[in-house]
Amino acid sequence: MNIAAGKNIKQKLEEGFKGKIKPQEVLAKYTSIKIGGPVDLFLLPENCDDLIFLIKFLNSRGIRFRVIGNGTNLLISEQKLHGAVVQLCSEYFKTIKEEGNVVLAGAGILLPAFIEFARVKGFSGCEFLSGIPGTIGGALIMNAGVKDLDYKSNGKTYCISDILKKVEVVDKEGNKRVFSKAEISFFYRGSDLKDKGTVVRAWFNLQKENTDKVSVNIKRYWQHRRLFQDISLPNAGCVFKNPQNYSLSAGELIDRCRLKGTSVGDAKVSTVHANFIVNADKARFDQVKELISLIQRNNRYEYK
Ligand SMILES: Cc1cc2nc3c(=O)[nH]c(=O)nc-3n(C[C@H](O)[C@H](O)[C@H](O)COP(=O)(O)OP(=O)(O)OC[C@H]3O[C@@H](n4cnc5c(N)ncnc54)[C@H](O)[C@@H]3O)c2cc1C
Repeated sequence: MNIAAGKNIKQKLEEGFKGKIKPQEVLAKYTSIKIGGPVDLFLLPENCDDLIFLIKFLNSRGIRFRVIGNGTNLLISEQKLHGAVVQLCSEYFKTIKEEGNVVLAGAGILLPAFIEFARVKGFSGCEFLSGIPGTIGGALIMNAGVKDLDYKSNGKTYCISDILKKVEVVDKEGNKRVFSKAEISFFYRGSDLKDKGTVVRAWFNLQKENTDKVSVNIKRYWQHRRLFQDISLPNAGCVFKNPQNYSLSAGELIDRCRLKGTSVGDAKVSTVHANFIVNADKARFDQVKELISLIQRNNRYEYK
């Protein structure tokens, strides 16, 4: 979509779209690593009907769109991005409520808000998500999760799909569809949910529990993260997946290669957590990519 066509498209879109339209919005402010260039159209639908209208509108004009959650797992180029980026952050997409032992949460809810809702209402089962800075939508797409606090001795891991009951999406043709957990393929830090559409809301199976006990669990996970994660500078969390069935994590492997503190421009391997690349000031997309390649080239282990 060129700029002239973009202006025309904005006017046409305004005729039926109730949400916000931000042309040429710079994406750096929506990513946790603070890198990203302008996109033709940044679109914030008001509710699900508005999202359906939007998807049909964009499809009918052949405009490619991507969905962004809280931007905590994204590395976006500074180059101009053609097409549209959609974010679900209106009140509608932040609705959360209890239905018996099930919690229904909108795609735009931040995980800390989801956990706090569960804590206040006395629900257990989602404490392990404490400290992961994504949204419900992004976390489901990525199948966000963590190792158990005693992982070294019990090898247990937890991910958001463990507690999922079902998900509502708007598919690529603009139809509302609901998928049960069994109909979705979840794997280590991923799922095929993205192929099914844009996540609108999801239902989670939790267990009733004493609020104080839930608070204690949340605190344990939170304290663990404060010890091992770098929150001093902008970053996008872990860069590499952990090798499966191997005794060392990706961070430990990078650390053993003595790469902590290595930098390319302002992109730097965190000195706290070797699997984090931090933006020390004005890091650029290419610098982060070059640093990722440098880490891969320096890997002395059989895992890439
Ligand atoms: C400090 C820090 C710590 C982290 N710790 C962890 C951790 O312990 N475990 C872990 O798993 N991850 C961790 N992450 C990574 C990240 O927080 C998770 O992957 C999170 O689930 C991403 O959610 P998000 O809303 O930010 O998604 P985004 O980064 O915005 O998007 C991720 C993907 O989801 C898609 N997406 C987002 N919303 C929707 C939607 N509604 N419908 C369809 N597609 C959508 C996007 O298109 C993109 O492909 C960490 C990140 C940081 C910065």
